[in-house]
Amino acid sequence: MRIMKSLASALILAAVLAAIPGITWADENGEIVSINKREFLARGLGRKGLDLLMERNGRIYIVASPADLASLFAAQVPFSRETDRFFPFEQAGISPAGGLNGAFHSTLELETELRTLERDHPQLARVVELGESLEKRKIYALKISGNVAVAENEPAILFAGCHHAREWISVEVPLLLGKHLLENYAGSPAIQDLVNRSEIWIVPIVNPDGLEYTIHAYRYWRKNRRFNADGSYGVDINRNYGYQWGYDNIGSSPEPASDVYRGTAPFSEPETDAVRRLFLSRSFRAMISFHSFSQDILYPWGYINAPTSKDAELEAIAGTMSGLIAAVRGTVYAYGRAAGLLYTTNGDTVDWAFGLAGIPAFTIELPPVDVDHGGFFNDEAAIDAIFRENLPAMLYLIGYAVQHPAPQASWLRDKAGRFRLPPGIGFIRKIDKDP
Ligand SMILES: [Zn+2]
Repeated sequence: MRIMKSLASALILAAVLAAIPGITWADENGEIVSINKREFLARGLGRKGLDLLMERNGRIYIVASPADLASLFAAQVPFSRETDRFFPFEQAGISPAGGLNGAFHSTLELETELRTLERDHPQLARVVELGESLEKRKIYALKISGNVAVAENEPAILFAGCHHAREWISVEVPLLLGKHLLENYAGSPAIQDLVNRSEIWIVPIVNPDGLEYTIHAYRYWRKNRRFNADGSYGVDINRNYGYQWGYDNIGSSPEPASDVYRGTAPFSEPETDAVRRLFLSRSFRAMISFHSFSQDILYPWGYINAPTSKDAELEAIAGTMSGLIAAVRGTVYAYGRAAGLLYTTNGDTVDWAFGLAGIPAFTIELPPVDVDHGGFFNDEAAIDAIFRENLPAMLYLIGYAVQHPAPQASWLRDKAGRFRLPPGIGFIRKIDKDP
């Protein structure tokens, strides 16, 4: 039934799309379009859950799904097709020897890399399977610590990448951090000290299904690959976390076809559930969720433009990290409260981490700064330099977490040490002991 219905609506949609002047190609993947900013604001399009790409020269650029295109057309919003400007199907700066994704890592390539690191550093590195994606791919974490086989209850720090499928550089930076820590442990007393006193958890690919889809089907895909009830695909897993999930329809969308669709419930997706189970099983004291692009360091809140109880501390850490990054080769990463600097988002990773545990939690939007410098497409030759400029900031945050005892609020755990949750944080399923 569902398939029949979605087929019928797909055919109607195809007919609508075929009637839109200037749209020569559109299937389930949609198009990039731009809309005059005044028009955009006058029609309240900022509140429609559209996937905003950027603002430039008085125009707002949107990654529009076929449903978005059809509704823009139906509402007689003038828009221009821009897809070709964004070289969507071929990526420059990729070496053919690396296959479709060049030096960037697919899920399988990541697994191979992580297993090699574990084999070469058995005392320090352990590959942990956090769970499985919808399409049954493993979600891998690399745990790095002195005596890694033992759960030592040391402060844990999380570095996560690739919530959003098309943000390939966000896989590479946390992965390279892991390699750097392991390969320099023996020779650097400073790294030895950090690694011995903490547990560093690196999850380079939170969204493996989406990532594979960007490699093999559509480079601009953002969400996971959930088959939704209306026949569309994907939940934005960076809108699916349980703190203030679905707070409004601006920071996420209730529409399944939207690129910022939040899912049917908090943690409805196995990918977010995997991160949650890891997070609740350890004593996390800081985290960074990597994304791209725009060179920003963002801290909560994202769901409203209001300060958290630790606004000054978060601002100070973000400012220090921004300074450390700039000192490497002059790249400027703006920093600020997420809802102030970017736009509101609800149900994202760092609001949840802060809302749950009160820890320093940051989204880092990696380079480039804008679409004219490549947007989601980083040259593979730039991977190492982007990692290098982020390294001091990442090491600083590990050191900060080690030196600052966890702000474990008393409401967070009951007498048996189990998490108790305040309202709004979402339903918690079984918690693994040491995933
Ligand atoms: Zn992202």
